[in-house]
Formats: sequence, C-alpha cells, structure tokens
Amino acid sequence: MNYIEPHAHMVSRTTADYQAIVQAGCVALCEPAFWAGFDRASVAGFHDYYRQLTEYEPARAAKFGLPHYTWLCINPKEAEDAGFAREVMALIPEFLDKPNVLGIGEIGLNKNTRNELAIFEEHVDLAKTHDLPILIHTPHLEDKLKGTKLILDSLKNAQVDPDKVIIDHVEEHTTGLVLDAGYWAGMTLYPESKCTAARAIDILETFGMERVWMNSACDWGISDPLAVIKCAVEMRRRKHTQEMIDRVILENPRAFLSQSPNFKS
Ligand SMILES: [Zn+2]
Repeated sequence: MNYIEPHAHMVSRTTADYQAIVQAGCVALCEPAFWAGFDRASVAGFHDYYRQLTEYEPARAAKFGLPHYTWLCINPKEAEDAGFAREVMALIPEFLDKPNVLGIGEIGLNKNTRNELAIFEEHVDLAKTHDLPILIHTPHLEDKLKGTKLILDSLKNAQVDPDKVIIDHVEEHTTGLVLDAGYWAGMTLYPESKCTAARAIDILETFGMERVWMNSACDWGISDPLAVIKCAVEMRRRKHTQEMIDRVILENPRAFLSQSPNFKS
C-alpha cells in the first residue's frame, strides 16, 4: 500500500528504518523539528539541527528514493527560556527558502507554561507572516486536554485559517474539539504510550475519516517507524474499504501538505 508518513523524527533513526519504510510503500516523509532526545546547549546547536533537517537528512532519504520534507521551529520542551527561544527563532527565516521546508512545526505546549504559550504565539505570527501551514504538538497525559484548549483559544485569537493547521497527538478526549473547530487532526501511533492502532481506529470510527491523518512520530524512544502501515493493515482486518484506508494514509496527508508550495509528492 502506498502511504505518506507525515511525522517522523528520522535524525534518530537508522538506514535500516529508511529501507523498511520505503519497502512498506511510503512515498513521502515529513520530519518536524522537535526535541532530539537531549537539550541543545546553544543557539548554534539549533543552526546545525536546521541544516541537518534541510540538507543532510533529505540527502540521506534520497539514497532510498524517498522524498523528505521538514517543518522548522524551536520545540516547546526547549522553549521555556524565552530569551533563548527567540534567539533560536531568529535563525528560522534564513532556512524557509530551502526546497524541503513545508511550514512551522511542531510548535505547541509541553507543560502548558506561560513562556511556552508566548513562544507558541510568536511562532504562529511567524507562520502567518510567511503564509505557511502550522503543525502543532499537544502535550501528553494529564496535560493534553488543558493544553489543547489553550492552543485552540490562542489560534482563534490569532485568527489563523484552520485549513492550514494540523493539531497532532489527538486522543479520544481531544479529537472532537479539534475537528469541530475546523482544524485538521493527527493521531500518533506508539507501541507503548500514546495511541495504539486499535485506539486510533476506534477514534476514526467515532469521528470519521475527514481531516485526519496518522503518523508514527518514530524518534529516539521506543517507537515503530512502520506504525502507519501496520495500522492500515489492521483497518483492513476490521473491514474498512481500501478507499477509506487510502484516504487516511495517503489522500488526507497529501491534501493538507499540498497547501505548502514545496510539497510535490
Ligand atoms: Zn514529533
């Protein structure tokens, strides 16, 4: 089955993962900027990371015939020091012209602090200034509902076009809020924490197949770079039609991502 992996942290993965992803039918992969498993000690560390995301990682993916796209930001986990975060953000405009950059992300909240929210709002302004789509990380566990509500309020105040925003890591208690407000919703499939394939399909069956995507978010922790295609196989076992499966794993991500002029897959 052909599919798009819309959220994967490949800087933490091996070439064997790239081979497996391509063999499974992946036709394009998107890598949002995020925490890399450690806090970077300097602004220069982010400059190197943005080069990795816009130069080295797309070249590595190209060796496997896989188009690699990226989203740029400073993630909320490293944005608590607002002064530091602003210095990092000042680097972003020079990278926005790189051919694989889709937009601003994954911004959002981690612990729902005032500083995180301020930096989130400044990223939203940056996206609006450059007319770019936005990919949003919502906090995990007990912080998710409150964080999602804070994010939705902030986006409404900023008058952002909901068509150009995807709110990721939704779960049973946040999917309805996100879709009802007109945004796109992403589900992250994790073997241990977050959403399992069975839960994700339950959510699809509850809220429908419009404006949703699934991703593996495969990163430095225990995660599965083939989670999307495994979920698609599970959808088939649960008697969903191939048309519905293709919509969720291929057509929906393509429709959202194509709002970025650089997305050509
Ligand atoms: Zn992520």
